[in-house]
Amino acid sequence: MNNHLINLYDLNFAELTEFVAELGQPAYRAKQIWQWLYRQYTPDFASMSNLPKSLREKLAANTTLDIGPIIAEQLSSDDQTKKVLFQLADGQQIEAVLMRYEKRRTLCISTQAGCAMGCVFCATGQMGFFRHLSVAEIVAQVMHFARELAAEGEHVTNIVLMGMGEPLHNYENTLTAVDRLTDPAGFNLGARKITISTVGLVPAIRRYADEKRQTPLAVSLHAATDAERDKLIPVNRKWPIADIIDACHYYVEKTGRRITFEWALIAHENDTIEQAQALGRLLQGMLCHVNLIPLNPTQQYGGQPSSRARVDAFQQELARYGVNSTVRVRRGIDIQAGCGQLKAAVKE
Ligand code: SAH
Ligand code: SF4
Repeated sequence: MNNHLINLYDLNFAELTEFVAELGQPAYRAKQIWQWLYRQYTPDFASMSNLPKSLREKLAANTTLDIGPIIAEQLSSDDQTKKVLFQLADGQQIEAVLMRYEKRRTLCISTQAGCAMGCVFCATGQMGFFRHLSVAEIVAQVMHFARELAAEGEHVTNIVLMGMGEPLHNYENTLTAVDRLTDPAGFNLGARKITISTVGLVPAIRRYADEKRQTPLAVSLHAATDAERDKLIPVNRKWPIADIIDACHYYVEKTGRRITFEWALIAHENDTIEQAQALGRLLQGMLCHVNLIPLNPTQQYGGQPSSRARVDAFQQELARYGVNSTVRVRRGIDIQAGCGQLKAAVKE
């Protein structure tokens, strides 16, 4: 892969139009290229058959659609979950996951190489932060699977930004990628089909609320008292629970949209009745839903998933506060789907 090449997935339509003009081509060529990229998922210029050969050659010489090779691929034992590992131009490695569930084809996409937030139970947090991903590096993960699914007559139905990294720490590139993927003249995925998951970056949640975006927001809470959350999520010291909940109320008020809270249940840690009660008090009356996911054990953290009985007890306690929750199962657990994280989540 060549570093000086422009990655076409980095350009929005206006930028592509400008680029095409610089190559001495009429504006309608930009529209044709856009269709090849985001309707046909064409991986190479040679097959863009309605473009003149000279333009295809210029594109091949100056641009790329490649973010780097796939260096590993894993398929879960039930064949329903597939994880790929990309090696980027600078050697960073990022994961993306495809999960098949009934008619859904959900992608779990990375937004950073590593993560700066250091959550103790998270495999990505344990590796530390390397860098933000570019727009092209986010979009190309999606295009890879879009291509693969199209070959089977299927298409991407949902995306969760729950791969490696904290999406709202890489706000500009992440939301630009989301805008690209929801472009009606391009990839055209419904905004409601793309979930942004955040560890709780308060100013970013407020900005997101102000922008009144249609993409659903999930907040990874995992603890209902600061004493407990500080132990699991270091960034809680900067933005404690009360500030996050305030920002969530602000989001619901601004957008009228329901918020999802993620809770990885860790045996005898955050799965106690006291935590369930504290969570119930925090969320009582809020337009929200809680996803309860038994922890996916990781190498550098000793915590274990909660037993079924403890999960049920936690859920029942929450219900007493009128807080709705769903117990999710981990998909592709045998391939550590998605950096040993919450990767798939399906209703039991
Ligand atoms: N940084 C964002 C999005 C990526 S992590 C965030 O934290 O929300 C996606 C989800 O996986 C988060 O809810 C995160 O808390 C969860 N997660 C991380 N490690 C996990 C593990 N070992 N078991 C279960 N869920 C995990
Ligand atoms: Fe980063 Fe999310 Fe992992 Fe925390 S859980 S370290 S925020 S990727």
